[in-house]
Amino acid sequence: MGKDTGFLEYKRTNNGDVPPEERIKNFEEFHTPLDTQPRREQAARCMNCGVPFCQSAMNLGGMVTGCPLHNLIPEWNDEIYKGHEKHAFDRLYKTSNFPEFTGRVCPALCEKACMCGQNGDSVTVHDNELYLVETAFSKGYIKPVVPSIRSGKKVAVIGAGPSGLAVADELNHRGHTVEVFEREDEVGGLLMYGIPNMKLDKKVIKRRKKLMEEEGLVFHTGVNVGKGDSSEGDKTGEKKVSQKEILENFDAVVLCCGAKKARPLPVADPEKIKGVYYAVDFLTRTTKALLDSENRTVEALKNHGGYIDAAGKNVVIVGGGDTGNDCIGTVIRMGAKSVTALEMMPKPPVDRAESNPWPEWPKTLKTDYGHEEAIYVYGSDPRVFETTVKNVVTDKKGNIKQIETVKVTFKDGKLAEVPGSEKTLKCDLLLIAAGFIGCEDYSADAFSLKRSPRGTVVTADDGYHIPNTKLFSAGDMHRGQSLVVWAIAEGRACAKEVDEYLMGYTNL
Ligand SMILES: Cc1cc2nc3c(=O)[nH]c(=O)nc-3n(C[C@H](O)[C@H](O)[C@H](O)COP(=O)(O)OP(=O)(O)OC[C@H]3O[C@@H](n4cnc5c(N)ncnc54)[C@H](O)[C@@H]3O)c2cc1C
Ligand code: SF4
Repeated sequence: MGKDTGFLEYKRTNNGDVPPEERIKNFEEFHTPLDTQPRREQAARCMNCGVPFCQSAMNLGGMVTGCPLHNLIPEWNDEIYKGHEKHAFDRLYKTSNFPEFTGRVCPALCEKACMCGQNGDSVTVHDNELYLVETAFSKGYIKPVVPSIRSGKKVAVIGAGPSGLAVADELNHRGHTVEVFEREDEVGGLLMYGIPNMKLDKKVIKRRKKLMEEEGLVFHTGVNVGKGDSSEGDKTGEKKVSQKEILENFDAVVLCCGAKKARPLPVADPEKIKGVYYAVDFLTRTTKALLDSENRTVEALKNHGGYIDAAGKNVVIVGGGDTGNDCIGTVIRMGAKSVTALEMMPKPPVDRAESNPWPEWPKTLKTDYGHEEAIYVYGSDPRVFETTVKNVVTDKKGNIKQIETVKVTFKDGKLAEVPGSEKTLKCDLLLIAAGFIGCEDYSADAFSLKRSPRGTVVTADDGYHIPNTKLFSAGDMHRGQSLVVWAIAEGRACAKEVDEYLMGYTNL
């Protein structure tokens, strides 16, 4: 333990935030890191608990609390305090392939379980992690590690989101020859085209990709697996690879295709009504335009064009989760006239309820960056709870103009409308961020994969292998829509199984 009185002496201090009035002028990351000395003081707050709940990943009350990667948090907090950044980073890197992703976007399951949080403020584990990995990059501690011997086994990974990247990273370091197939033009999955740039700068993903390539990994981007074969691709101009070609050429195949099938909103079909989009499509088009723009300012985006513009529009977002919040932050930067976010669930309490004690995952109201920005720009929190869309009104050209909302309650576990609670709302842009209902059918069907009622791929109990095949599945495709940290954790665990399948044993 670094400093035995640290948690008494030092108050929790988060990384700073660029104020909303400044940060909404661009799509840059907006957290400002602490200097080294205050960072060490933050690490000194860690009590090195005998039972470190922060790294436990326990399932309590049906929700996981503590780090799914079992990061060795007290160890590296201690090393940060002592100024041993290199050693601290080595301990972090032992359990986590991409701390630069989780250090930016993880909701920090570790902090929710931290013992310091029982009577005060938890340790800044998330910010400490980001400090370590960025220090490691800037000081050159992270160098390509190329395996000295190759096993002669070939593995195909389909999908380059965080789960696919983690599987590939582990198996490549183990000495297998790994090729990753990704249908988008860039790797990263929802890290790249989903999570906006202000939360995770896309340079961070490209930096990791370059490192992985230097380590011997091969990425095939712009290649769709399971929608045709390579000869067909030549004809249409789109690169395609069939499941047959993959199965013939590789000793093991890992499917990490995500869970991108969006939950529809029955009254507003994006195919039929102009001005209605699924949130991920909206966010993807924004990021693609931004990546091609001169810089990350709103002006550069506007000059570039080619995205779905919210400027001057009354925007309604259906869904109050992370995705909805990312849409709020994005439309504010574009200059939306108004933003309303509809959420079916009741408003959670600000503090933990008695029935939801530490160290359970806190079911409390989270005011995220997009909500803060909306409060600054429009003067109020954009969220309206226990409400959904009942009807959509369009103009003669089929453009959305207005929606009718209705209050809802849950009666005996079933959703019911509250009679007489209907209201109308101006709406020129409707974004559906109502969650996901499993993996896309074509990728799974191409490999004849069985699906669960939740739309996830069925594997062997407690594992990732699809029995009697050379196929494996991990991440959202296997788990259902989840978190980056879970995608990485599943990728690592799946890699172990693949290694054992190929070698008869594993030392991963
Ligand atoms: C808008 C949004 C914001 C989010 N914010 C956060 C956050 O802040 N923190 C957090 O922890 N989690 C967040 N999440 C969830 C997180 O991004 C996902 O849980 C995580 O990315 C899942 O990783 P994955 O590798 O399993 O799948 P994905 O990231 O979905 O990657 C799957 C990849 O497979 C590719 N693919 C699919 N089919 C094929 C095919 N047939 N051939 C070739 N390639 C294919 C896709 O193009 C994609 O790149 C967010 C999700 C969304 C939608
Ligand atoms: S629970 Fe909190 S105080 Fe205890 S070891 Fe983990 S980070 Fe440190």
